[in-house]
Amino acid sequence: MMSGSRWYNNPLRLACHPVTVTIAFISDLHLTPDRPVSTRLFEDFIADAGHFLNQLYILGDLFEYWIGDDGAELLGHESVEAAIRKTVENGTEVFFLHGNRDFLVGKFFAERTGCVLLPDPVVIEPDQTRILLTHGDALCTDDVEHQEARREMLSSKWKMAFLRKTLDQRYQTAGTLRQQSEKSKQSKSMEIMDVNQQAVEALMQDHDADIMIHGHTHNPAAHEFTLDGKLKRRFVLGDWYTQKSAIFYNDGKLVLRR
Ligand code: MN
Repeated sequence: MMSGSRWYNNPLRLACHPVTVTIAFISDLHLTPDRPVSTRLFEDFIADAGHFLNQLYILGDLFEYWIGDDGAELLGHESVEAAIRKTVENGTEVFFLHGNRDFLVGKFFAERTGCVLLPDPVVIEPDQTRILLTHGDALCTDDVEHQEARREMLSSKWKMAFLRKTLDQRYQTAGTLRQQSEKSKQSKSMEIMDVNQQAVEALMQDHDADIMIHGHTHNPAAHEFTLDGKLKRRFVLGDWYTQKSAIFYNDGKLVLRR
């Protein structure tokens, strides 16, 4: 379905290029005006991406937090939106999947930027490889507190109540939630906040996936394991606090760079 149909359907490009799709996956940029270096890294990356990427998948936590599509200006994210828009106009398809920080990104953001919102999880199939994409926090099943908060905040009741507040109220509430989250993270071990291997395996089995790509844990790595007698791979993206982190797909190969 999402295997670069525009590219394949373009006979002119097919005539002069081999049929390969170049895809990049990124996550956990946590963009906020408080950390301008990350915004600069992203804007450089995405400006460059238009020259060689057919598709860019953003796997959540692009933003440090999001208080509704009408709050982009207040949070100072207009330049980020414009940068995505420009890349889309230059011919790169951009897909966005929610993280636990920016789960309120909605259709107006998608309209303004030209990106396509995806559900979490989703499977893409470039060249017969089934790649499962997810932000990753749903896999951290040992972190019971996070899972409870996640369930509540992803409910339409919570989202509607939040979005009914004024922008100022939402800004205040987001600040309080971030403080609470930082505080509770300090008392948790890395093991509890990492993904649970059984949850990984169950999700890959459910979706018959060969490869999983996710972010959230900020522990960039490529893991290999055997499941039902088959080799499976799980790639983890890193954050963009001080450097770029991306996974590139081309010609059946995946490479993690950071
Ligand atoms: Mn996250």
